[in-house]
Amino acid sequence: MTSPAVHPCFLGPYGENDTLLEKLVVEFLRDHVYWRRNFHPEDPPAIPTWAADTPAFRQFEARMRRELHALSAALKRSVPFHSPRYIGHMVSDLLLPGLAAQFLTLPYNPNNVSIDAAPVTIDLELKVGLQLARMFGYVSDPARPDCAFGHLTSGGTLANFQALRLALALKAFPVALRAVSPPGLDLPGDDRAAFNLTPAASIELLEQWNAFLAGCDGRERRRWRQALTAQRLETLGMAEFLSRHLTLESPRVLAPVTAHYSWSKGMKLMGLGRARLELVPERGMRTDPEALEEVLERCRRQRQPVLMVVAVFGSTEFGTVDPLHELVAARERWAARGLGFGVHVDAAWGGYLATLFRRPDGDLRTLAEMRGEFRDFPTPEVHAAVAALPQVDSITVDPHKLGYISYGAGAFLCRDQRAMPLLAEEADYVFTAGDDGNYFQRYRQLGRYIPEGSKPGAAAAAVYVTHQVLPLDHEHFGALPRESILATESFRTAATRFAARMEGQLHCRVPFEPDSNLICLALNPAGNRDVARMNRFVRALHRRLSYDPRQPLQAREFFGSMTTLRPDVLGQEDSLRILGMLELDPATLDVGGEDDDRLVVLRHTLMNPFLLDDGHGRSYLELYFDYLEQQALALMETEPA
Ligand SMILES: *Cc1c(COP(=O)(O)O)cnc(C)c1O
Repeated sequence: MTSPAVHPCFLGPYGENDTLLEKLVVEFLRDHVYWRRNFHPEDPPAIPTWAADTPAFRQFEARMRRELHALSAALKRSVPFHSPRYIGHMVSDLLLPGLAAQFLTLPYNPNNVSIDAAPVTIDLELKVGLQLARMFGYVSDPARPDCAFGHLTSGGTLANFQALRLALALKAFPVALRAVSPPGLDLPGDDRAAFNLTPAASIELLEQWNAFLAGCDGRERRRWRQALTAQRLETLGMAEFLSRHLTLESPRVLAPVTAHYSWSKGMKLMGLGRARLELVPERGMRTDPEALEEVLERCRRQRQPVLMVVAVFGSTEFGTVDPLHELVAARERWAARGLGFGVHVDAAWGGYLATLFRRPDGDLRTLAEMRGEFRDFPTPEVHAAVAALPQVDSITVDPHKLGYISYGAGAFLCRDQRAMPLLAEEADYVFTAGDDGNYFQRYRQLGRYIPEGSKPGAAAAAVYVTHQVLPLDHEHFGALPRESILATESFRTAATRFAARMEGQLHCRVPFEPDSNLICLALNPAGNRDVARMNRFVRALHRRLSYDPRQPLQAREFFGSMTTLRPDVLGQEDSLRILGMLELDPATLDVGGEDDDRLVVLRHTLMNPFLLDDGHGRSYLELYFDYLEQQALALMETEPA
């Protein structure tokens, strides 16, 4: 049964909370109109009252209505994300506080590029950064110089780009500083040492540089700054920078095989090149720390610098969590051996699960305390990973995924705001005391730091209000991921029962045990040993679980998604294990057919808050497995093994 804590949060699958939302929308629309009228009430109305009676006005209105009706009708073909029958991609119903805040803010149209265009919502965005920082255990007190900094982006993709940008700026800054060699600084001995600092060590140097500048007079300070700017990677570009520092190579990014394709895009966009994104072998779809160790050893031997190691917190395809505590330990170990790199956590999907681990006072909950609420969650490894989050250099998280906010809301966080001046568009490497000593003042020209320019203040308002109504701890926001994890555990049980009931007809297996709320099912008709045939079967099954524009929406019982497992990425051990559990013949893999170089599996995102609703007498998940059985049997009838 769904927890009552969830009841007021959403419009609801049936639109149950319609009057609440309607009241809010109408109230705040009227409120907005009063605001306009009270700006300069002495100004006469610009649109005369008779205007609405003219034929031209009426024609305009008619055209507008016609188009809006057409749009509204067309939108009925949308995918029903809100429904507990939708367990496909990473989207569900929207939280009412966010939706109402967005409606409310839209007519004011704030632009969060700068304080001049968004006097209210810029500060809300900066506060969202602090709210999210607290959720992850970063320093979130803006009075502290080493406070974290966070801002919103259009999505996780842009947040990942920002992570690359900041890591590269931190990596190259010490090399530029050596080229300028201001007196009295504790500079690395050579270029290679300078290019192999950790982000934290680089920030330390930046602090020394700032202290040095503070001791200069105005003209000297300008001269030093210009000299540094002329040497920076951001000024020279990679080709010229490397030609001036012949012992250096363009750095590599090490990412897990589960990494989202935004990392490939980012490498291309940054001019680093896709070939420098190296995928680290996995174990159970989690970065294998031993394999990472081998890759790092090779990088050290080949004098290949590493920009960052990416850890995924909730993989897009399997919901797995990388052992980021191990990666943080590796960062410390390798820095001591002269190979410094940052650790970035891509928590675009899983980030909000951190609310389950957080007490209202900000402390981390113990594993034992949490295990009382769930059957298997969290594993000790996942708990250790969350405990290590405060030590990673930067984090991506998407409010528009498990934050249940409408699209256009990703977020980037860095652990220590003192790195941010390196990204500032007008080079301003120093916070001189007094001028912008205040955290909020410092970032009010947000456009100088972010990859985007103009961006919606309404999105910031939506995320902020949501986090105020549902603080990011286990007693408040945590009610939502709790529901989602419980649904996943229930799905897992139902999958085992389904597999037992179908044995003899159909092999059903979970290829990777998930750490969170995303779960895949591999399905193979019993007796079939051929990979291509299984793939045909699962693709046909998936078509019955996906949107079909030729049919009315209601013809679909459930919506799912699919993904593929590629043996070249899985490695031999996992590949053979999965082929074995499905009784497939490894000899039928990659024999030159159309669709035989990978395994097609169903993928389920269990984030709808009403999946455990038992209004039918059974939960939606149980209904789903009934449907799956019926469809699988029907398919096997049309194409027997
Ligand atoms: C969704 C996702 C992204 C990309 O985020 P967008 O908001 O779609 O740009 C990046 N990384 C992971 C792990 C994701 O799940």
